[in-house]
Amino acid sequence: LVVALAFAVTLFAGCGSSGDKKAEAPKEKKIVIGLSLPTQREERWVRDRDAMVAEAKKLGIDLEVQISDNDSAKQESQAENLITKGVQVLIVAPNDSKAAANIVEKAHAAKIPVISYDRLILGTDVDLYMSFDNEKVGELQGKWLTDHVKKGNLIVLSGDPGDNNATLFKKGAMQIIQPLVDKGDLKIVTDQPCKDWQPSEAMKHAEDALTANHNDIQGVLAPNDNTAGGVIQALAAQGLAGKVPITGQDSDLAAAQRIVQGTQGMTIFKDTRELGKAAIDAAVKMAKGEKPDANNKVNNGKMDVPSILLPPVAVDKSNIDKVLIDSGYLKKEDVYKK
Ligand code: BGC
Repeated sequence: LVVALAFAVTLFAGCGSSGDKKAEAPKEKKIVIGLSLPTQREERWVRDRDAMVAEAKKLGIDLEVQISDNDSAKQESQAENLITKGVQVLIVAPNDSKAAANIVEKAHAAKIPVISYDRLILGTDVDLYMSFDNEKVGELQGKWLTDHVKKGNLIVLSGDPGDNNATLFKKGAMQIIQPLVDKGDLKIVTDQPCKDWQPSEAMKHAEDALTANHNDIQGVLAPNDNTAGGVIQALAAQGLAGKVPITGQDSDLAAAQRIVQGTQGMTIFKDTRELGKAAIDAAVKMAKGEKPDANNKVNNGKMDVPSILLPPVAVDKSNIDKVLIDSGYLKKEDVYKK
């Protein structure tokens, strides 16, 4: 009986232990990343989100996405919710580069590292900044514009004053444009920011400048494709669309169509698929307590922030097929749609 009992116990224990093993097998905690984007108005932000959602899915992690509709207070409260939910890393593309310091401070108080995405958060300790070389974006715009406008009157527009990128784009562009203004070849007849990057503001500034200068305008520095679209409407109303060289940025489909049709001169290609994927990869590393490999440092007024900066590419009629279509970013049938 003793033997039989011992056998039964062993059997039972054997079963039990194998069952217990399964139950006890250390279940890896699913990584949860928070993402706060400023808007979905520009097509690029939709693509950023899509790229991040796809990469998160591929890696089997949870990505909690919030969109703040160009509203800093809303972004802060959405970020607070993500922090309370217990995300392990927070990716923030700030609506306002200074106001978002509050978000970082709240995240840090909860021991959550923050990735400043596309736009640099200023004046606080940021863990990682991932973007494109934004001053270079402005230089490429300035170079294209001054290659196409040798003499005459320029409209100079910039993006939202609270967006650090707007400052960098303008700085880069003016490095190229200012020497020609100083020489007397170019004259800036108006120099205006566009609140919240609103195309309607860009259109209004262009209308005012066209009226004040009796349509005597030879070129336009528009900071992105959406604002370029606003200016092109104002030019079209005067029969000038396609006659005045104008820049852009983002490689929106509508901008690519305008480039092949001749009403917009150029855009900038920033491969948001790459940036989005890289941000999720970096966030996962950080969630595991590893260090992402930064290749740069950018000062944000408080510290040199470890940074990953991808290169922007200038696109015009001459290379649009190669850069935007061959890379699969846009479809040929969409770009050349009549
Ligand atoms: C981005 C641009 C975008 C703009 C408006 C900037 O910070 O870098 O790509 O067009 O914001 O959303």
